[in-house]
Amino acid sequence: MRFLRRLLLTLIVLTVLVVGGAWFVAGRMAGPAIEIVKPEKFVGVSTPVEIVVQGPATELSSLSMIVEQNGKQFPVYTLGDAGVELKEDDTGVRLSQTIGKQQIPELASGPARILVTASKPVVYGIRTASNTVVRDVEVRLERPRVSVISTHHFINHGGSEAVVYRATPEDVTSGVLVGDVEYPGYPLSGANVPGVSSNDPAVRVAFFALRHDQDLKTPIRLFARDEAGNTASSSFDYRVFPKPFKKSRIEVSRQLLDEVVPAILQGTTEIKPEGEPIEQFVAVNSELRQKNNARIASFAAETAPEILWGGTAFHPFTNTGVQSAFADYRTYVYQGKDVDQQVHLGFDLASYATTPIVAANRGKVLFADELGIYGNTVILDHGMGVQSLYAHLSSFEVKVGDMVEKEQTVGRSGRTGMALGDHLHFTMLVNGHMVNPIEWWDAHWIEDRILRKLRGVGGTN
Ligand SMILES: [Zn+2]
Repeated sequence: MRFLRRLLLTLIVLTVLVVGGAWFVAGRMAGPAIEIVKPEKFVGVSTPVEIVVQGPATELSSLSMIVEQNGKQFPVYTLGDAGVELKEDDTGVRLSQTIGKQQIPELASGPARILVTASKPVVYGIRTASNTVVRDVEVRLERPRVSVISTHHFINHGGSEAVVYRATPEDVTSGVLVGDVEYPGYPLSGANVPGVSSNDPAVRVAFFALRHDQDLKTPIRLFARDEAGNTASSSFDYRVFPKPFKKSRIEVSRQLLDEVVPAILQGTTEIKPEGEPIEQFVAVNSELRQKNNARIASFAAETAPEILWGGTAFHPFTNTGVQSAFADYRTYVYQGKDVDQQVHLGFDLASYATTPIVAANRGKVLFADELGIYGNTVILDHGMGVQSLYAHLSSFEVKVGDMVEKEQTVGRSGRTGMALGDHLHFTMLVNGHMVNPIEWWDAHWIEDRILRKLRGVGGTN
């Protein structure tokens, strides 16, 4: 009898130990891993939140998201909320929500925290293991402001224009939207042009363009966007002028097929077209042209936030003969058939062979190398998104990183790339988009379209 009682006691003690041990172990088990993918830092008027929780969804016993601010807690999501669908993939359970003024009317600008808690049953469901992840954020509910200062905005199709405007707060991203093409603005204080000064950090200048392939009715407006995703836009007065673009037909010659195209293909690893010489020509003329243009556009990101060219007209290359003007719509013909169509976005200027090619204005060398159909090419940065390009050179006299003065020799003309004879292919670029250089060669245009606007605010005239 005593023995049985002792056995029973031992069994009870053992059971308590095992269950207690399991309870203890279960209590120390980790909850589901949680990652707050976004937002990283800022919450605005309406901000997407994305959370990934270790899955599968059927194993989650709870999931919640709370925004905490000034000692108050605002529930945003609880597992099972109607109308909220959890997505499941290889990374786990994905929750996408929006937080902002609509979800939390009491939300105020200032610091806040996003708390995400998830739990799952462990050890046959005797306990749940939970995990909480916190993200400190900054709430910004004030929309940025943007408004125009300059007047008389005239834009030629395929051409450029400048606008001076005010954008606040100071750290806001702003500029001009032409359709969906964005042109960033820069503080006018960095203008570095005689007679132009501004101590107001809110005053910006943006150079923009109406691309040759955009409709004349494309909407043009100012925009501002802060880090919390709050946006503002503002219209301004402008007039657009149509420009007739030339159409021409070009016979694809034996020289192009037998000499020019093979030479270009030898110098590039970007495309490896197969087939007949005419098919290789079309690949070079279309595919490689597109890749080369994308490369040229990429240099916009390296522009200086100041005007490096001092406000003087760009060197017009007047001692040379114009063979082709900006935006020539070319149809390529081979054996009586149309084989390709491209737009020639630059000026072809011919002089004598290997003539010295000068910098159109003061700037910094961003590129001096071979570039597919453009052959040996120099790209100069003149600041605030304005750049110039010199193609088909036979040699270089500058290297990347050099600052060059206006009319300093950058290289010699040649016939490298897609060129049949020695000539300079010249174009201007605004934020990576090729624009008609004829405006930039014209001192009156520079004065009316740019300098007057820059001097209009805080100027000394
Ligand atoms: Zn050309």
